[in-house]
Amino acid sequence: MMENICAISTPYGVGAISIIRASGPDSISLVNKIFKGCDLTKVKSHTINYGHIIDDKGIVDEVLCNVYLKPNSFDGENMVEINCHGGIYVTNRVLSLLLENGFRMAMPGEFSKRAFINHKIDLTQSEAIMDIISSSNDIALRSSNDALRKSTLKLIKSFRDDILDVIAKIEVNIDYPEYEDSVDVTHNYLKPIVDDMIEKMKVILDNSKISTIAIHGVKTAIIGRPNVGKSSLLNMMLDEDKAIVSNIPGTTRDLVEGTLTIGNVTLNLVDTAGIHETKDLVESIGIKRSKEALDSCDLVLLVLDSSEDLKEEDKYLIKITENKNRIVILNKSDLKSKIKFDNAISISALKNEGMDLLAKKILEITSINNITKMDGNYLNNIRQIDLMDKAYNSIIEAYDACLNLVDISLIEIDIKKAFDLLGEITGESYEDELLDALFTKFCLGK
Ligand code: GDP
Repeated sequence: MMENICAISTPYGVGAISIIRASGPDSISLVNKIFKGCDLTKVKSHTINYGHIIDDKGIVDEVLCNVYLKPNSFDGENMVEINCHGGIYVTNRVLSLLLENGFRMAMPGEFSKRAFINHKIDLTQSEAIMDIISSSNDIALRSSNDALRKSTLKLIKSFRDDILDVIAKIEVNIDYPEYEDSVDVTHNYLKPIVDDMIEKMKVILDNSKISTIAIHGVKTAIIGRPNVGKSSLLNMMLDEDKAIVSNIPGTTRDLVEGTLTIGNVTLNLVDTAGIHETKDLVESIGIKRSKEALDSCDLVLLVLDSSEDLKEEDKYLIKITENKNRIVILNKSDLKSKIKFDNAISISALKNEGMDLLAKKILEITSINNITKMDGNYLNNIRQIDLMDKAYNSIIEAYDACLNLVDISLIEIDIKKAFDLLGEITGESYEDELLDALFTKFCLGK
C-alpha cells in the first residue's frame, strides 16, 4: 500500500511560485481538508483548481491545485500539485500543513521511483529526467530528451530480443533434442550470431564514448610556456557572449579547474598549472601531477606564441602532447608570425579573434559533430554505459567459448549474463538496492 507523501518540487528560495507535490491514495482528500474553493475530491483529472489553503486561523495562501487521478499522473498515483506563492515561509507553511494532515515527507526521488514501480517509466527514462535537469549544453539536453522518449529503451529492448532468441533456441535444443523443426545450435551456428552482437555492441560503446564527452564535457588541458597567452586565451573564452562559466576559482594565471560551455561544447578545464614551473622537469612533483592531468584529459590546447621562434620548452610540450587529441593554437596572430605548424589555429587572444575557429576545431577533433549521425545508437548515461560494457565482455567470453568448443550450455550462461546486465539498464531485471541507490540521487520532489 502506497503512503501519502509530499515535497516541495521547486528550488528552495524566493521565486514567483513554488510547487508542492502530493501523491498517494488519499492525497486528493487530504489536500481537500486544507483547501477552500471547490471540492477537490469531485473534480476531474488534469484540472487546475483555484482556491485558498487555509489553517485554523484563516487563509494561508491563494493557490492553484492541479489534480491528477490515478493512473494518469506522473507517478501513477492520485496526485495534487499545489502552486502557491514562491516565498520561503509561505511554502514551508503549506508543506507543514500537509504534514499535519496525514502526509509524510517524500524521500529524494520517491515520486520517480513510484513512477517506475507503477510502470509509468523505465529506468532509462527516469535517468533521462535527471539528465535533463543536469544538462549543460544542447547535445546533452536533446539526447536526454530522446532517452525520455524511449530511444534508449528501444535500443536495449531490440538487443535483448535478439539475445533472447538465441537463448530460446539453445534451450529448445537442450530440452527437446528430439524436436526436429528446431535449428541445430552448434558452435558454428552460434559464432556469426555472437560475432554480430559484438560488432553492434562495440559501435554503441564507441558512440557512447563520444556522447559522454559531448554531454559531460571535454576534459581539457590548456598548456604552454609562460607568456604565450594562456590566461589571455582563457579570458577570451570566458568573455565570449556564449560562454557560460561556473566555478573557476583563483586567478586565471594558474589555469585551475572549472567548466565553461562555448556554443555546444562544454569544456572541463584540467589543472595543469606547474607544467612549466621548473627546468628540472623530471623531479618536480608539480610536473608529475600536471602530467597525470595531461594523461587523463580528452583534449590538449597547446598554446604557442607565433611572434617568437620556438623555444626548448615549446618543443618539449609539443613532444609530450604528440599522441594526444591536441589542438595547437598559434596565439598573437596580430603580430608578425615566426612559426608555422600544420593544422594549427591562429588566434589573437588580445584582439579576441579566432574563437569561432577554435570552437569548430574542438567539435571536429573530439568527434562531437558525429553525434547527429549516430541516430540514437548510443547511451548517454554512465551507469548504462558501464552495464553495456560488462554485457559486451560477457558476449566476448561467449565468443571465445565458441572458438574453444566449450559446451553450449556453458556458453549460454555467458549469453544469459549479458541479457540480465542489459535488463538492468532498463530496469527489467533489478534489485531493490539498485533502485534505492539510483533514486536517492534525485532531487527532493522529483
Ligand atoms: P600566460 O603566461 O601564458 O598566461 O600569458 P598571458 O595571457 O599572461 O599573456 C602574456 C602577455 O602576452 C601579456 O602581456 C598579454 O597581453 C600578451 N598577449 C596575450 N595574447 C596576445 C595576443 O594575441 N597578441 C598580443 N600582441 N599579445 C598578447
